[in-house]
Amino acid sequence: MLDYVGLEADLGEEERLIRDTAREFVDERVRPDIGDHFQAGTFPTDLIEEMGEMGFYAPNLDGYGLPNVSETAYGILMQELEACDSGLRSMASVQGALVMYPIHAYGSGDQKERWLPALGEGEAVGCFGLTEPDHGSNPSAMETTARKDGDAYVLDGSKTWITNAPIADVAVVWARDESGGGEDSGSTGEAPVRGFLVETDRDGVTTNEIDDKLSLRASITGEISLQGVRVPEANVLPGVSGMKGPLSCLTQARYGIAWGAVGAARDCFEQAREYALDRDQFGGPIARFQLQQEKLAEMATQITTAQLLAYRLAELKERGDLTPQHVSMAKRNNVRTARDQSRVAREMLGGNGITTDYSPMRHMANMETVYTYEGTHDIHTLVLGEDLTGIAAYE
Ligand SMILES: Cc1cc2nc3c(=O)[nH]c(=O)nc-3n(C[C@H](O)[C@H](O)[C@H](O)COP(=O)(O)OP(=O)(O)OC[C@H]3O[C@@H](n4cnc5c(N)ncnc54)[C@H](O)[C@@H]3O)c2cc1C
Repeated sequence: MLDYVGLEADLGEEERLIRDTAREFVDERVRPDIGDHFQAGTFPTDLIEEMGEMGFYAPNLDGYGLPNVSETAYGILMQELEACDSGLRSMASVQGALVMYPIHAYGSGDQKERWLPALGEGEAVGCFGLTEPDHGSNPSAMETTARKDGDAYVLDGSKTWITNAPIADVAVVWARDESGGGEDSGSTGEAPVRGFLVETDRDGVTTNEIDDKLSLRASITGEISLQGVRVPEANVLPGVSGMKGPLSCLTQARYGIAWGAVGAARDCFEQAREYALDRDQFGGPIARFQLQQEKLAEMATQITTAQLLAYRLAELKERGDLTPQHVSMAKRNNVRTARDQSRVAREMLGGNGITTDYSPMRHMANMETVYTYEGTHDIHTLVLGEDLTGIAAYE
């Protein structure tokens, strides 16, 4: 596996163990069928509990049976899962960073007891409902509302592009709390955004699968419709109010994406190198041509640069110095690298490269989603632009 500047030599025992466990799991349990799942537009749901047993959901959190591994170990796990398929990493990212993290960080004791062990073990599946049909890059304009009614809230609205919504037991739904109060209502006069734990079997909740995707096909995506859904007040995440809630979760998940994209790019590189050494044209392996060597050299350099950024992010996160802007830079750079290099790898595989027998074109298609979700490439450019100049250019 490409590790050109020897970063893995510095890994601790726990980090090596997670790397090896994840690689073995992926090779034995997922890789043989992932092309079929991609073609069928299905996720291997029979592996959800197994992934829980392996400790793949939020292993960087503590308590409630969670192992509290290092941020490097967590990143390496995301890298190994996405080296197989972005759908696999998305499963772990959504469950861990977008569902378990907000419950862990902002939930009540009862919410944590009820959900964290079940989600951690994969006995329950969660999803994260922020995006709406008319509000993607600007989620703060969301229209989903929560209205207080006695000791319950009534939710109305719709969410779309929600990973795992059709198979979820619980949705973390972000909505404007029209009953007033909360930290961010003062300055803008807008109702504050709050997080609600919505069991998907409640009256008024419907989920529809989005089944015409050409990207991230080995992942289940859906819409959530909320029509007069009553949830008890005890289902509100008590510890956060305002856009800080969903945005802080996205920072966690984007950290995992920055690592995961390196895995996808590395897998493309490995397939291209192996193919170039095996494939003979004009009397010998295509790897002897300077044109092909240039592609491998550039690919290895770009991937190594992305790896260095991911490792540095882990150090900053471990010591509490990681900013959302750091994460934006890494998500932006590493996903672009994977998107660009998967295309080069596909090209090196000639006609065979367009089949599901090889991973590069599947990664290439997946990267269109990864480039778009959790903040598009453009939006992360604007985040960095604002950080570098002090001038926001979103509107
Ligand atoms: C497969 C998949 C899974 C997803 N999973 C989830 C999930 O689990 N939960 C969830 O909440 N969401 C999820 N999303 C939604 C995702 O986060 C949004 O698609 C993303 O935020 C972009 O929003 P949009 O699609 O509405 O695009 P838009 O916001 O409409 O953007 C369209 C284009 O305009 C550009 N643009 C927008 N604003 C600006 C600006 N100010 N300046 C310059 N250019 C701009 C964008 O970069 C983009 O190129 C998922 C999406 C996909 C595709």
